[in-house]
Amino acid sequence: MSALLPAALRDDFPILSGNVLDGHPLIFLDNAASTQRPRQVIDAIRNVYERDYANVHRGIHTLSERSTELYEHAREKVRAFIGAEHTREVIFTSGTTASINLVARSWGDANLQPGDEVLTTVMEHHSNLVPWQQMAERTGAVLRHVPITSDGRLDMQAFEELLTERTKLVAVSSVSNTLGTINPIDEITAKAHAAGALVLVDAAQSVPHMPIDVRAPDVDFLAFSGHKMLGPSGVGILYGKESLLDAMPPFLGGGSMINEVRLDGFTPAELPAKFEAGTPPIVPAIGMSAAIDYLNQIGIEAIHRHEQVLMQLAYDALSQVEGIKILGPTPKDRAGLISFSFDRIHAHEFAQVLNDQFGVAVRAGHHCTQPLHALLGITASTRASFYLYNQPEDIDRLVEGIAAVQKMFAPRGRRRKRKQ
Ligand code: PMP
Repeated sequence: MSALLPAALRDDFPILSGNVLDGHPLIFLDNAASTQRPRQVIDAIRNVYERDYANVHRGIHTLSERSTELYEHAREKVRAFIGAEHTREVIFTSGTTASINLVARSWGDANLQPGDEVLTTVMEHHSNLVPWQQMAERTGAVLRHVPITSDGRLDMQAFEELLTERTKLVAVSSVSNTLGTINPIDEITAKAHAAGALVLVDAAQSVPHMPIDVRAPDVDFLAFSGHKMLGPSGVGILYGKESLLDAMPPFLGGGSMINEVRLDGFTPAELPAKFEAGTPPIVPAIGMSAAIDYLNQIGIEAIHRHEQVLMQLAYDALSQVEGIKILGPTPKDRAGLISFSFDRIHAHEFAQVLNDQFGVAVRAGHHCTQPLHALLGITASTRASFYLYNQPEDIDRLVEGIAAVQKMFAPRGRRRKRKQ
């Protein structure tokens, strides 16, 4: 158990010791949807509003200079965190969804022709599917999907067969938000590049949980969100290689993204401003920077090890539960989340009882992966996802809760039999 982080970390998160559930301690296992924030991030946000806030890159006055400095410092913090070469390659967006849409609109519309192909996978979140479907409608390019194996891994043989000279982009998640599968981004990137295709990684579920270096593997675009890594909502990142971003047309038009505007046209600004039209997410970006400081202080590798211990414990315990179907691979190649389903009990009922009677917050539904659920022959699942403030006791509580729900929904005959 030495790989576990100290339980005292929980004390940094006011909401976890707050009275959310009328006296119940809160067991928060919905981290793949959004995490909580430590006091350090909340303080950083309050400090900006109380001491440093003004619009950025605009006024020649003290507050504007201060907030611009903090905002650009946040960009540098993100750059170092993901191993990018230049801050020009780090674009602040509103989140993973906005980042992927930016690439689909800007790069996609400028580069894809009828007959070109974009290769994605059946395990993608809707935000790495729908923007490509819309792109296909606009450009006439074709969308193809890598299938999964029966144990929830990407079918790499099918990937190689689907990867052809027509493939212009491979858009893939590094970690599935439903299956928990850690995808082999190194291998995918090497093979895609050898075939002449670019690679976009939806890293919403990996950047908060495991080390990342965008230059190894040498990905072309990477998208992730601040709110899944202890930061505020409303901010995310698009990393793109400078040469690609430079050649791409701006997506949104407006203030800040221009060098010059005439009545008959405009010239775009240099990177990264070219892709940050209007007032950017100033305070969320500064909050995200504080979140990165917090993560760095603990160490992202240590966080990953901690979650691996929790995931293994949960996997072992849940595997013993009668009638459960665990989605996705065995603990090898699995990140810190587990989704499961039962034939007779709907995920929503599960989540409701877990919350109301055990204080355990989990996600129930399709987790924005409807095509994947359809493929698995279910409409919904229940998902428990872990982060640095969870401990083995949280998993005990989850498992206890699951046993209780099962008893509650057991067929009458079996219930009577148990009582005898
Ligand atoms: N991709 C994945 C894999 C996700 O898990 C999520 C969030 N559930 C998203 C994309 C979308 O992120 P956001 O809502 O922050 O844009």
